[in-house]
Amino acid sequence: MSTVANTTYQSSQTKTALITGGGSGIGEAICRKLGQEGLRVIVADLDMAAATRVASELPNARPLHIDVGSEESVAAATAGIDGLDILVNNAGVGMVGSIAETETAEFERVMRVNVNSVFYVTRSFLPKLLAARGSIINIASVAGLVGIKRRFAYCASKGAVVAMTRQLAVEYPRELRVNCICPGTIDSPFVAGYLAKYHAGEEEKVRAELNDRQPVGRLGHPSEVAALVRYLCSPEADFMHGAALALDGGWTAA
Ligand code: ADP
Repeated sequence: MSTVANTTYQSSQTKTALITGGGSGIGEAICRKLGQEGLRVIVADLDMAAATRVASELPNARPLHIDVGSEESVAAATAGIDGLDILVNNAGVGMVGSIAETETAEFERVMRVNVNSVFYVTRSFLPKLLAARGSIINIASVAGLVGIKRRFAYCASKGAVVAMTRQLAVEYPRELRVNCICPGTIDSPFVAGYLAKYHAGEEEKVRAELNDRQPVGRLGHPSEVAALVRYLCSPEADFMHGAALALDGGWTAA
């Protein structure tokens, strides 16, 4: 029997989950996992071709165009959705640079896509989530828990995601469940893009360094993040609220 379809509280109706950034990497794995569990899945992404591809491979899914960093786009996307039980704020961007290397425009872009997005999307879907006594899962990062060299804007943005999670948990303790996951380095297209952009010609060496940064000696898999999302929106996680869960191969324990 499915553990998530009849998620959280009493209803036996099929639940609807919206995943931002659902067209690739971690978000795609989350869409697939929740789709396999029998949920109705809304694959929301800036890249409509990617969202359409993922949705077409799931039994009960649809793509949705959204730019999570744009209030107007978020409002338009929300208008087309009837009800929502589970919101996964996953879309995000990375940036490499110390504070001295960070241009104002780049900082603002990272904050808009990683932080303003959680504000816009959550606020926009809040009435629907409250009506459903729903669950919000924010995908933060270990960068929200510890400092990482040359990740000034990224750390700032993910720290804010952890803080927003805790604030929302305190604001709506009986109306919603709100948690965040803080993944370490996950082997997604994002990592491949990072290696190609910043370490062309030395990808294997840098990949080995990324492995070593995590005591278990490997990167995580998108499916491992998806498995935790699946648990967080299941009835078994009913007591989990306001948590920032490290899923990082021991990185933050070291
Ligand atoms: P990861 O899964 O490691 O976070 P990916 O780059 O594989 O990284 O996936 C990120 C997803 O987020 C992509 O599908 C991308 O199109 C999407 N995305 C990036 N920016 C936005 C945005 N502003 N609005 C919606 N989706 C976005």
